Amino acid sequence: MHLAMVIELASHRYPEAEALIDGTLRLTYKEWNNRVNAVAWGFIKLGLQPGERIAICARNNEPVLTSYFAAHKAGLTAVLLSTRWKSTELAYALNETEVSLVIYDKSTSDQVTVALKQCPRNILGIPVDEEVLDGSGHMYFKNLFVNLPDYPPDINRDDNTISTILYTSGTTGKPKGVPRTHRSDYYASLALIIQHRWTPLERTLGVMPVYHTMGLHTVISMVILNGLSVLLPNFNSSSCIYHIKEESLTALYLVPTIFYDLVNQLTAVEKKEILIQKLAFAGAPMAPSLIEKCYQTFKPEVFINQYGSTEMHAITINPDLKNKPNSSGRPALHSHIRIVPADANRRVLPSEEVPIGKTGEIIVKANSPQAFTKYLNQPDANDHALRNGWYFTGDLGYLDEEGDLYLKGRLDDMIISGGENIYPQEVEEVLLTHPQVKDAAVVGLADERWGEKVVAFIVTGSSQLNHEELEEFCLTSTILPRFKRPKEFIFVKEVPKSSTGKILRSKLKQDYPKKYLACAEP
Ligand code: AMP
Repeated sequence: MHLAMVIELASHRYPEAEALIDGTLRLTYKEWNNRVNAVAWGFIKLGLQPGERIAICARNNEPVLTSYFAAHKAGLTAVLLSTRWKSTELAYALNETEVSLVIYDKSTSDQVTVALKQCPRNILGIPVDEEVLDGSGHMYFKNLFVNLPDYPPDINRDDNTISTILYTSGTTGKPKGVPRTHRSDYYASLALIIQHRWTPLERTLGVMPVYHTMGLHTVISMVILNGLSVLLPNFNSSSCIYHIKEESLTALYLVPTIFYDLVNQLTAVEKKEILIQKLAFAGAPMAPSLIEKCYQTFKPEVFINQYGSTEMHAITINPDLKNKPNSSGRPALHSHIRIVPADANRRVLPSEEVPIGKTGEIIVKANSPQAFTKYLNQPDANDHALRNGWYFTGDLGYLDEEGDLYLKGRLDDMIISGGENIYPQEVEEVLLTHPQVKDAAVVGLADERWGEKVVAFIVTGSSQLNHEELEEFCLTSTILPRFKRPKEFIFVKEVPKSSTGKILRSKLKQDYPKKYLACAEP
């Protein structure tokens, strides 16, 4: 199934169903599909040929989604770029993907303008906000579809062509381009719908950026279901709460950090008024205490932890968070997983599975219909990740007796202290059970005696919490072995995280000690 078909079918099925809300703009599927068609003709009028690529670097709004589907209707590939990137990363991706055009907004205007100057190719910049028009000859998005047909161009719709290029939000190294086909995006979205138990005319928030799989596949799933996406350009808890109530939203699929802010922001009255049937999180682990708060606040019928990645989309799903809050659950619909010995050099075969209960690297069969095929222009990364028909995730975890997966962090983040393997996440999980620990991040820092020593960065709201208290807490823990307890605690205001809530451990390591020694007490 080609994504151009998905929106077209939705516009025939329920033409009057609400598709998008963006501020004061409300579009039905018929209206939106007509606009998508007109923008597709706009791209063609600019001279773009099927197979060419366009970039989109803007916050979630109607022009972004319209351009995304219009690109497909014109036979183009959409390259979705992070709005958080600096001009250097943008220039790198714009060059690498050889795009002909970039759509941007006022939030990304500065970095896109600088990036375009660093690109040898002639790339047309099209802003979506009128304010950005500065007389520099840029064409404005709205001019793209004036007086153009509202029927689709007649373009070959082979679903094995590349629909989208996303960039991994990796926490280290250069970003890697992940091309996805129409087929893989469609399968990923279908699996999402089934796994999250979404149904026709579902209503959700489009607040997760579409340059991440979560945001993108939420929107595609809503289109498959004739559902509503309430687009928000950035996260703001009051505005999210307002829309959840006003638009009677039925499903939320967000990163844990956003759930944290939402449950803490809701007033007692709002908590009584708000019910969300279907909740799901992904991107990072959620503390069991927050899972419990989400149950109490939203009273969901379904609450899912989805573990996945840009490359594979959903890998495992846990729909049983009440009983197993720490688990990432069983393999997703299109996923065949194994756990093999963790080896940074990957001198292991996919057949060498570790026993139940033992931590190793999670690998996924690469022939899943929702999987990527390979990274863009990165032969070394491809060789490292794709081996003997399996995709090596770089994630560590183990399976319990029942076949449920428990994640233990990234292979790259594994700490080797005194010759023992220590997974930061298992230490963080223990620290987070302390009532005065709001957040925690654990890293391994070079140490003469231990090779690496375990260091914990702690966020607390309490002035009572100190090194001795935490040391005692870890020593008396029945879960954490003595050798895994942190040798040092550093109190920080916040833990640096990516937009999907991943702890930026390399940043903590890089900034240590200069940035942190000054604030070693709460
Ligand atoms: P990305 O490709 O940016 O979506 O990042 C994928 C990575 O995020 C995975 O390889 C995991 O390390 C992490 N991740 C994704 N989902 C979860 C989850 N539910 N719990 C814990 N970590 C997760």
